[in-house]
Amino acid sequence: MTCRKGLKMTRKTVGLVIPVHNEESVMPRLLQRLQQLQQELPQLCQIVFVDDGSTDRSFALLIEAAAANEGWRVLRFSRNFGQQVAILAGLNHSTTDAVVLLDADLQDPPEVIPDMVEQWQQGWDTVYGVRRSRAGESWLKRISAKLFYRTLSHLSDIDIPVDAGDFRLMDRKVVEVIKQLGEQRPYVRGLVSWAGFKQTSVVFDRPPRMEGQTHYSLARMIRLSVDAIIGFSSAPLRIITRLGVLTVILSLIYSAVVLGLWLNDINVPGWTSMMLVILFLGSIQLISLGVIGEYIASLSMEAKGRPRFIIAYDSDKPHDGDDLSMNDIP
Ligand code: UDP
Ligand code: MG
Repeated sequence: MTCRKGLKMTRKTVGLVIPVHNEESVMPRLLQRLQQLQQELPQLCQIVFVDDGSTDRSFALLIEAAAANEGWRVLRFSRNFGQQVAILAGLNHSTTDAVVLLDADLQDPPEVIPDMVEQWQQGWDTVYGVRRSRAGESWLKRISAKLFYRTLSHLSDIDIPVDAGDFRLMDRKVVEVIKQLGEQRPYVRGLVSWAGFKQTSVVFDRPPRMEGQTHYSLARMIRLSVDAIIGFSSAPLRIITRLGVLTVILSLIYSAVVLGLWLNDINVPGWTSMMLVILFLGSIQLISLGVIGEYIASLSMEAKGRPRFIIAYDSDKPHDGDDLSMNDIP
């Protein structure tokens, strides 16, 4: 690690982990803000960028920046593995006493970091950023995020803070716990809460993306939400059982009605009610199968035990004539 001489002896060190996927447009602003932050926060002596299979010039720009700035390190995945996994890769390579997770698009404002560091110095182990407002995001994203955070905290057995993204500071002991967890589809926010220790928050207003566009389509947000729920709750499985019990009770009542009509020789033309029952039960069964399927898929991923990411390039390691402009990863 390249912290300024003597610093490590006197003060605890802070590092950043930044996942990057196709962010060339914001890169100049990001790099400038980071340099500025380093001036203001001398403890900040390591920045690990994880290029998550970018297909634009992000990687080339990162390499250039890492060469010019002490303590900046660039890892590059062999393809796009996803933001959550990129964060883990960054944590695996960070060495500072505290690590802050940061989005590359400057939606996690770097000026909040000194506040986080202050809380950490006062003895808190995790300081997460809570979003008071979210500017420039669609109503769909805002409402779905609000709904999701509340559903998850309701379903999950552990206390995952609402309205907090990945933007947070973690003490080394929290990072070491997270590093040991080998989940295939990690939900980092949940893992950090799961790790426990002393947690607090700082509130901030989330600015809009500085450049470019979000990578989280509705489908990707749903995927992340499903991963979060599967990872931290068995409640959906229990809900299926409860639904089953409820439908048994309903069918017993309805059977009594049907039998009573039959015993009294009343023949009701029953096509509509029959169709409704079939459709209702059919839908419940398919949804239940889907829910069980998600848990099985997750088990299957765990059973295969593949590495969660593959690092194709590490700026701290010697490389043998790599083509640094690897811009054509699909
Ligand atoms: N990101 C990533 N891999 C991906 C998608 C996103 O590393 O597959 C990074 C992205 O570059 C950014 C952060 O994750 O630094 C958050 O992504 P984004 O801003 O698109 O998400 P949002 O803020 O809209 O939720
Ligand atoms: Mg963003």
